[in-house]
Amino acid sequence: MTAVRIAPPRWPDQLLDVDAIAASGWRPAPFREFVAKVHQRCNLSCDYCYVYTMVDQSWRGRPALMPAEVRTATARRIAEHVGRHELADALVVLHGGEPLLAGVDVLTGFVAEIRSAVPASCRLRVGLQTNGTLIDDAAVTALAAARVTVSVSLDGGPAAHDRHRRYAGGAGSHARAVRAIEMLAGAGALGGLLATIDLSQDPVECYEQLLAHRPPAIDFLFPHATWTNPPAGSGYGRWLCRVFDRWYDAPVREVRVRLFQSLLNLLLGGEGGNEQIGLSPMRAVIVESDGAIEQTDALKAAYPGAAATPWNVLTDGFDAALWHPGFVARQLGVDALGPDCRACPVQRVCGGGHYVHRYREPDGFRNPSVYCGDLRILIDHAARRLRADLTGTEHDDPGHSRRPPADLRPLQRGDGGSHGGRPADQSPAEQADAAAAGGR
Ligand code: SF4
Repeated sequence: MTAVRIAPPRWPDQLLDVDAIAASGWRPAPFREFVAKVHQRCNLSCDYCYVYTMVDQSWRGRPALMPAEVRTATARRIAEHVGRHELADALVVLHGGEPLLAGVDVLTGFVAEIRSAVPASCRLRVGLQTNGTLIDDAAVTALAAARVTVSVSLDGGPAAHDRHRRYAGGAGSHARAVRAIEMLAGAGALGGLLATIDLSQDPVECYEQLLAHRPPAIDFLFPHATWTNPPAGSGYGRWLCRVFDRWYDAPVREVRVRLFQSLLNLLLGGEGGNEQIGLSPMRAVIVESDGAIEQTDALKAAYPGAAATPWNVLTDGFDAALWHPGFVARQLGVDALGPDCRACPVQRVCGGGHYVHRYREPDGFRNPSVYCGDLRILIDHAARRLRADLTGTEHDDPGHSRRPPADLRPLQRGDGGSHGGRPADQSPAEQADAAAAGGR
């Protein structure tokens, strides 16, 4: 007889008691961020991409271009959700694959459709996440006219960027990405830069390469990994500490680094955070190119189908998904954390890190982050720096000296440079929006 292996139940899908949570009076917050996968394919073959290189290969069975009927249904469902929940603001992110493969006319037509459907009482912002390679003058003009804010993936200098972000033939994409950044910045349509951390790159050099483009914001992203598929290399925490010191010690605030702003905000007792840190409720929902309503697509790094739900915008509204265990788990705050994180002294600031990084076969997402040690190093370091500055004491982290008191002025008064902005300048809602706009 052949033994049948029964997989143990996985948290939250089979183990989170949503009925009991509802009976307790808890209610989910409505979605506020709608990520539309307008084109399923990409013209690059980045080696760390979670869509094409990791365990979930569901993109193969979906249409490359989101069909017109799905775009129309998506616009209608967003408007319906916004109206039903009387949302004062919402964010739509055009995503992929590479969304510009859809063609700029399709994209701006889709944006117009959404804007005309959504109630005028809602402040609707639209972002687009791109690798930058398909940006040209016509695209910049059309996107700027459609009030679409564009974020570009850039991992640092040419060597670091082109090590990972290449065309299928092996050529790098850095030069085209930089050209796109310059064009978008010139049109006032650049939202920010997204950099996936590459440990082989000097952290300060990487930061300064990104800063040289004078972006409004920079997101540093941990490469997606889980306990089952651990990250390559180690030292992410120390790498980020060096960038933090360079950013924090600048005499003026040169750029918004969302991870660091969230970190300081949380250390100072504030709420909020972003997808990588803190306990804020996650309020983003994905629409795949076939209309499937899904959870954050970073979950595709965990196991096949991890992001899936039974619903589709062609037949269902977004409210149907609000009580899905996966979405509920992302809004439960500390109640979604496993025992190690609950006992952790930095739990409120860290929040267990990015949800997908907690995944471990076979039990699911109730574990510390696979980047736990790195998060702890960064959080403790930032806390020491902050404590030393606020109390006038020496901080005891080897290799770092206390910042001169004069440098506190930008932090205290927010009198940064032209790209200035301190933690308090960005509300938790804005930080969460920015993270959602980040994508991959
Ligand atoms: S991931 Fe690690 S550092 Fe973060 S809350 Fe959990 S135990 Fe603490």
